[in-house]
Amino acid sequence: VSWVSSHHAVLGSDSNLPQWSEVQGGSDSREKRFVCLFCHKCLMTSQNLEVHMRIHTGERPFSCSQCGKRFTQSAHLKTHQSVHTGERPFACRLCGKSFIVKYSLTLHLKKHHPNV
Ligand SMILES: [Zn+2]
Ligand SMILES: [Zn+2]
Ligand SMILES: [Zn+2]
Repeated sequence: VSWVSSHHAVLGSDSNLPQWSEVQGGSDSREKRFVCLFCHKCLMTSQNLEVHMRIHTGERPFSCSQCGKRFTQSAHLKTHQSVHTGERPFACRLCGKSFIVKYSLTLHLKKHHPNV
């Protein structure tokens, strides 16, 4: 029975904990924030929030006219479309090999020309 009373004592001390919600509200409260209803991520603009929400809703408004593949962001569609056009805008200045995305070129440079 003494175990129950000590358990109550622990619960009572909870009210002495710092109020984190008040601390977080502080200096940034002037800035306008858009908060995602699903994961509570803060976005700076309503447009950013709209794009972000597609992660949760599964909405893919951008579709490829060539193959019908759908994307959540226009930038993703643009990158995908170079598959059809064969366009590789990122070329290695050292060996001439070209890439669809900049990230691939960066990886190539690290792997094949590590000393440059
Ligand atoms: Zn979210
Ligand atoms: Zn496509
Ligand atoms: Zn190269």
